[in-house]
Amino acid sequence: AAVIELKSVERHYVQGQRKLTILSGADFSLVPGEMVALVAPSGAGKSTLLHTAGLLERPDGGDVILGGRACGRLSDDERTAIRRNDIGFVYQFHHLLPEFSALENIMMPQIIKGLPQAEAAKRAEQLLDYMQIGKRAHHRPAELSGGEQQRVAIARAVANAPLVLLADEPTGNLDPHTASYVFDALAALVKQSGLAALIATHNHELARRMDRRVTLSEGKVVSL
Ligand code: ADP
Ligand code: ADP
Repeated sequence: AAVIELKSVERHYVQGQRKLTILSGADFSLVPGEMVALVAPSGAGKSTLLHTAGLLERPDGGDVILGGRACGRLSDDERTAIRRNDIGFVYQFHHLLPEFSALENIMMPQIIKGLPQAEAAKRAEQLLDYMQIGKRAHHRPAELSGGEQQRVAIARAVANAPLVLLADEPTGNLDPHTASYVFDALAALVKQSGLAALIATHNHELARRMDRRVTLSEGKVVSL
């Protein structure tokens, strides 16, 4: 069964006199454990799709069903709570907090959720080991390589065991070798945890390694 479902999603932006249609009856779903590549040119609406799926933006029409729950018309507070529990985000740039260690950065979403410090630390340590950066636990982001920073960002994104991982060019800032390595770690995590992942990428080699590929065409999600 689908863990996330976009049903006839509409997204429009108004620019001056013009109405710009980005998503127009977009249908899409993910099942647990699958990794889907979103491949489309800049400006096609990838970020809009990811932000709408991730409850950061509201659909102008249609709905987003997450874990069986229709989220389009919930209050902002309800959407925020669901987002914190059920969605993980990874971006091209890590957005780690510079004053905190790798471990503390990974603990942060769990602390915000209200988990005890010790429990959050244990989970963060497991994730660091899983991502093979256990030795970097007490380094700050500036003391880590680009690939290590992204592995910390991925670990942070999944710290609260979300249902869905949404990633916007997660390896876009890395050299090809490091990108491949970080992707392998991400893929292993997705398979091991049963997470569903939608990953926007311009890297065709990585897209080929995912379970399937989609693009955006005339505001709709279509299979490649
Ligand atoms: P992508 O991630 O594929 O580059 P985006 O989803 O960021 O595409 O943007 C799709 C289109 O929507 C672009 O033409 C962009 O300029 C426009 N757009 C995105 N956000 C806004 C906004 N807040 N207001 C107006 N136009 C926007
Ligand atoms: P705003 O006050 O507009 O929400 P933020 O600084 O919170 O500004 O967000 C900046 C950008 O980061 C926004 O474009 C939004 O898409 C994204 N963003 C906001 N909140 C989150 C979140 N919880 N997780 C991931 N991305 C977020």
